[in-house]
Amino acid sequence: MTLMDQPVRGAQLTTRNPIDGEAVATYPVAGPPELAAAIARARSGADWWRDLGFGARRAHLLAWKSAIALRADELADVISAETGKPHGDAVLEVMLTLGHLDWAAKNAEHVLRRRKVKSGLVNYNQHATVGYEPYGVVGVIGPWNYPFYTPMGSISYALAAGNAVVFKPSELTPGAAVWIAERWDETVGHDVLIAVTGDRETGAALVAADIDKIAFTGSTATAKKVMAAAAERLVPIVAECGGKDAVLVAADADLDAAADFVVFGGMGNAGQTCAGVERVYAVDSIKDALVAKVVERAQRLRTGGDDAQYGPMTLPAQADVVRAHVDDALRTGTAALGGPESIQGRTIAPIVITDVDESSDAVQHETFGPLVVINPVASLDEAVTRANATSYGLTAAIFTRDTRAADRAAGRLRTGVVSINSVLGFAGVAALPFGGVKDSGFGRIHGADGLREFCTVKSIARQTRKPMLNLLTMDRT
Ligand code: NAD
Repeated sequence: MTLMDQPVRGAQLTTRNPIDGEAVATYPVAGPPELAAAIARARSGADWWRDLGFGARRAHLLAWKSAIALRADELADVISAETGKPHGDAVLEVMLTLGHLDWAAKNAEHVLRRRKVKSGLVNYNQHATVGYEPYGVVGVIGPWNYPFYTPMGSISYALAAGNAVVFKPSELTPGAAVWIAERWDETVGHDVLIAVTGDRETGAALVAADIDKIAFTGSTATAKKVMAAAAERLVPIVAECGGKDAVLVAADADLDAAADFVVFGGMGNAGQTCAGVERVYAVDSIKDALVAKVVERAQRLRTGGDDAQYGPMTLPAQADVVRAHVDDALRTGTAALGGPESIQGRTIAPIVITDVDESSDAVQHETFGPLVVINPVASLDEAVTRANATSYGLTAAIFTRDTRAADRAAGRLRTGVVSINSVLGFAGVAALPFGGVKDSGFGRIHGADGLREFCTVKSIARQTRKPMLNLLTMDRT
């Protein structure tokens, strides 16, 4: 169900294609009354959905997945029109997301079914079980950079755990939300997934409304507002925020693999990826060789035009942030590829800057553009220390042939996720929980922890035999 199904009474928003500025679609802006109505519907849907049980929910979720997969190209077009990303990138986004939906649907019963636990010595005569129950109605608030993948990391797991969902997508990219809600209505219905379009006030109103859990993905600054508002009603939240993700490259690393990963993570989606690559710490002896390999790959990327490998900045103001970071980085660093001239309106060619002061904005704050800083370090240990020295802690990657050194470094990194020697990173491993520490947020989506994130825990202890002691008098019974 979406607000599009209702007559438009109030404010509207129009999305525009970031490439040519053409209007894409117009959506209603939901206010508190529309949200209250949507949540009331979701509440009745939630009861039906919860009572279905795992098997029937799994069947419905897989039917929904098939309905989306059958028209994946169409969804990719919707994503592409509002983000500006190439169609191929949008198809990849759809496929990765369906992998999560599939995993959540197929594993929810195994992860969440009631299980027996050992009752212990003192109260031995108990049949003790733990069960995971849905919250009820989960409010999902999403960003614009991966308008399907990112919110579905919460939606798939929340639904599989038995919750209904009210989904407020970014005002820049509501198309995917409306599209998937339409496929839901066609395959499942019952007001279990409701898309509400709107702006940041709509998001704030959803947080203040009568929902049972909030799954927020977006900037750290907004997460703090969401958390403060949720505290008013003591509503739990999971917060997936920004990152300043680092790649650590040791002297013995496979430099081609490391360079592939740096370019894929740093430049893919024009760098507009929370778990992308913004910093590289390379051991002195191989730093120049790595820079050369990164530059060689990055300068071959096509930006702009029909065969572009990544699109423009989806958020118009983001180009200003990238420009400010490039200017700041160049005060101390050296341009290895590109510079301020690489920024042409909202289209930005790859930029690589080396030897940047660690206090620079380009090292400390999220850039969210195709800028990678590569700094030298004396050792993998120093790389870990530098990687940890920002307020963020989402993901990191390590390249070394020394497995023990990699494991030691992974243990010391203050991030939620670490990839080792992988050119694709953790993306697509649905069983891996995802989330950060520090300013990158808290709570987990994906995997078994992602399913449990959307449940309350209920413990039940049933006495099986009379206790040997009267607990009041401590006499034998
Ligand atoms: P944003 O914080 O500006 O907006 C995110 C969402 O919050 C939007 O839907 C917006 O309408 C809504 N919103 C704004 N103000 C609100 C308020 N006061 N209360 C409730 N909702 C409100 O973020 P963005 O610019 O859309 O997304 C980019 C950010 O998201 C980056 O920092 C990026 O790193 C982060 N991100 C994180 C992940 C992750 O999984 N960790 C994934 C993708 C993006």
